[in-house]
Amino acid sequence: MRVIKISPRGYCYGVVDAIQMAKRVARDPNVPRPIHVLGQIVHNHHAVESLNALGIVTLDGSARMALLDRISEGTVIFTAHGVSPAIKTAAAAKGLNCIDATCPDVTKTHDLVISLVSQGYEVIYVGKTGHPEPEGVIGEAPGHVHLVETSDDVDKLKLTAPLIAVATQTTLSRWDTASVIDHIKDRYPQAVVNNDICHATHERQEAATTQVSEADLVLVVGDERSNNSKRLVQVVQEIAGKPARLIDSVDDIDPAWFNGLSTVAVTSGSSTPTEITRAVIQLLEALEPLPAAAN
Ligand code: SF4
Repeated sequence: MRVIKISPRGYCYGVVDAIQMAKRVARDPNVPRPIHVLGQIVHNHHAVESLNALGIVTLDGSARMALLDRISEGTVIFTAHGVSPAIKTAAAAKGLNCIDATCPDVTKTHDLVISLVSQGYEVIYVGKTGHPEPEGVIGEAPGHVHLVETSDDVDKLKLTAPLIAVATQTTLSRWDTASVIDHIKDRYPQAVVNNDICHATHERQEAATTQVSEADLVLVVGDERSNNSKRLVQVVQEIAGKPARLIDSVDDIDPAWFNGLSTVAVTSGSSTPTEITRAVIQLLEALEPLPAAAN
């Protein structure tokens, strides 16, 4: 099988930094135990399991405060997705040793929202309900940051403030957000638009739409919890017009998918460990193309 290895793909610098920070903490005997991570360090269960193997306990669930309630001592690591100031204050009040692995690109959005609200803006934040990143950003200025996922959500807003700004989650796609932002501009023509989709997400999406013209099928390696992996599947299907599948690892691959195909492209989400994608590529390269099954 001919395999197009889409580049760039896989781990971004924010994910690498967060995982290395957690590993350093786990290996430091002077760090207070137990060590908990408040949510998945990044949205990939292989990455989470590699930390669990070092003795780190991952608490999983959507609301960070509820997770924090389960920790009474030791060290807590805040994930790459960021947390609200209320979480930081509550963790410090418990006397926990706090390690902040928030990606600098997420921190940039927190700082932007703080600055906008201090200038009198109401912020419409385009993001995914239930994802930890919006929870942290909204927590910077509760009541002044309004989460919307769809144009219908925009219609439900009743903002009367003269100053309106738009910010976005880092791992969306520009195609995804365009229609919602257009709708915001229709409703609030004065809105100042900031697009916070991070460079790593954007360049992986660009690569996935521009390097697949010769592919019969595109495989995206990533966890089903990973927003940026799911967006890669979406942009390949909707923008490049190619069939795409999200797979967790080689174990998900069905050789029957490739009957009659000669070229497959592979990319991976920015939270997918390199070795998981490498194994997928190796398996595909070893596959003999088969003729299409007769009907
Ligand atoms: S995807 Fe973007 S925001 Fe998320 S960790 Fe990577 S660089 Fe940071």
